[in-house]
Amino acid sequence: MAKDTFDVIVIGAGFGGSSCAGLLAKKGLNVLLVEQNARAGGKAMSISKKGFTHTPWVVIGAPVEGNLYKVVLDELEVADKAELVHLGVQGSYYKNSSGKYTAMPQMKTGEVDPNIIFDWLEIMDEEARTLALTLFTELTLMPPEQIAAWRGKCFDDWLNQYNPPASLYGFLVSLCCDGMFMVPVDSLDAAEAIASLQDMFLRNGGVFCKGGFGEVAEAYCEAVRVNGGRVIMKAKAEKIMVDQGQVTGVVTNKGSFKAPIVISNAGIQPTMLKLVGEEHLDKCYANYVRELVPSWALLGYRYYLSKPVADVPYGVVFSDNSPWSLERFNLAKEDKASREGVVYFEVPSVYDPDHTPEGMQILMTGSYCPSDPQLSKKEIKAWADVAEQILFEIFPDLEKAIEWKDLYTTKDVSNLTRDSAVPGQGGETIGLGQVVGQCGSDKPSTNAPVRGLFIVGCDAGGAGVGTQQAIESGMNVAEEVRRYYLMRQATP
Ligand SMILES: Cc1cc2nc3c(=O)[nH]c(=O)nc-3n(C[C@H](O)[C@H](O)[C@H](O)COP(=O)(O)OP(=O)(O)OC[C@H]3O[C@@H](n4cnc5c(N)ncnc54)[C@H](O)[C@@H]3O)c2cc1C
Repeated sequence: MAKDTFDVIVIGAGFGGSSCAGLLAKKGLNVLLVEQNARAGGKAMSISKKGFTHTPWVVIGAPVEGNLYKVVLDELEVADKAELVHLGVQGSYYKNSSGKYTAMPQMKTGEVDPNIIFDWLEIMDEEARTLALTLFTELTLMPPEQIAAWRGKCFDDWLNQYNPPASLYGFLVSLCCDGMFMVPVDSLDAAEAIASLQDMFLRNGGVFCKGGFGEVAEAYCEAVRVNGGRVIMKAKAEKIMVDQGQVTGVVTNKGSFKAPIVISNAGIQPTMLKLVGEEHLDKCYANYVRELVPSWALLGYRYYLSKPVADVPYGVVFSDNSPWSLERFNLAKEDKASREGVVYFEVPSVYDPDHTPEGMQILMTGSYCPSDPQLSKKEIKAWADVAEQILFEIFPDLEKAIEWKDLYTTKDVSNLTRDSAVPGQGGETIGLGQVVGQCGSDKPSTNAPVRGLFIVGCDAGGAGVGTQQAIESGMNVAEEVRRYYLMRQATP
């Protein structure tokens, strides 16, 4: 086979692309993986700067038991290249009825006592407690066929059947769902939410990787090399070549490469509307892709601190007022409603002291904002200020310990991971929003309407939370492409 010709080209070494490429190389296909950045991992890549190593923003892994990071590391026989860690502690805070932020009591992994949570959430009334317990039990034990019946309905409708107290609603929506899915509770697909919450309650959350999660994707890339494939970093795909409805290869800033199969991790909208181009698409499909809804986004500060201010690896801060509804978010965008929402923080040196110069600490934060990479300075400041005030309240020593701080925005997320192909899209946290109408059988197909072209990552082929969803897609698409490849080989 010519040096520039491959069985399959994968565009993008995010968790979707790198896992898919690694698995296909292991199955014996001749794989080329091209990635625009110097490092793998996409939205969960690792960066190093001035002695600090971390993901560029808060990335918390879940579930702990049976997570797909490890399933694929094991399958590719590269588990020694990425060390996953789980401390079993967290530092979430609830703003109680007297306006004070109170820390969630620590409970050992696997020993979560709902009564301790109810006390913390100030659910004291017996009737309300019984109701809350029923909600937790039904959610945790719901069988798959009942979960499937909630497909296409929103999670808010499921929750409101129980008429939960505001604090419990805040716990389930803000602490769990807002951050896991980054879409408003009254748009979030209920089946998607219930399945992921079950996973988190039964198999725990709060797993990290030493050196940052990017190490996992780097290990997947290594598996491509070890199995005879090629990985080219800093290679941006500029065009997917199509001839008579069939992909023929990829043009990058580092040369052109040929393959009858191309898998794109660049996002369905940039892939179809920019890399392929509308001239190769049916008008209805192009319009369908254009109208797909991205998830919302996070922005926040990375605080580089002269001394430690936190002793937990991560936490989620919420109040009765923080759950996002579509209406409040749209009003907040226009300055007509409060921007107070859930706030996340992560402290990498707690799970790996090597992440930080001795005696110092980095605290990364994230809070909601629109996914538009073109947010104005005024808008960015308005969204960032609210979260910063909350964090200064939680950590009284934080402000004085700041040596310097960086603000990451949707523009950074887009520059690092996903071009903007449609106004308002590009800076999204997850990929496509897991909203009603875009999940399960309504999710875009991994098999694009151009022969030999597949979509991998959070936009197609998976379910669940962020990085896990991307890897699940990587596994599913690898299997689908293997079959497609064998079928092509068999063609007389
Ligand atoms: C601020 C923030 C916080 C998050 N927090 C969490 C969390 O706590 N837990 C969690 O599980 N998930 C979290 N996520 C979400 C999670 O990181 C993503 O959903 C997931 O990593 C997406 O994986 P992916 O493979 O679909 O795509 P991406 O990560 O977007 O990867 C796409 C890859 O393709 C490359 N690429 C794009 N275009 C081209 C091109 N033209 N040529 C070559 N390469 C290209 C990109 O550089 C990138 O490497 C967070 C994301 C963000 C932004």
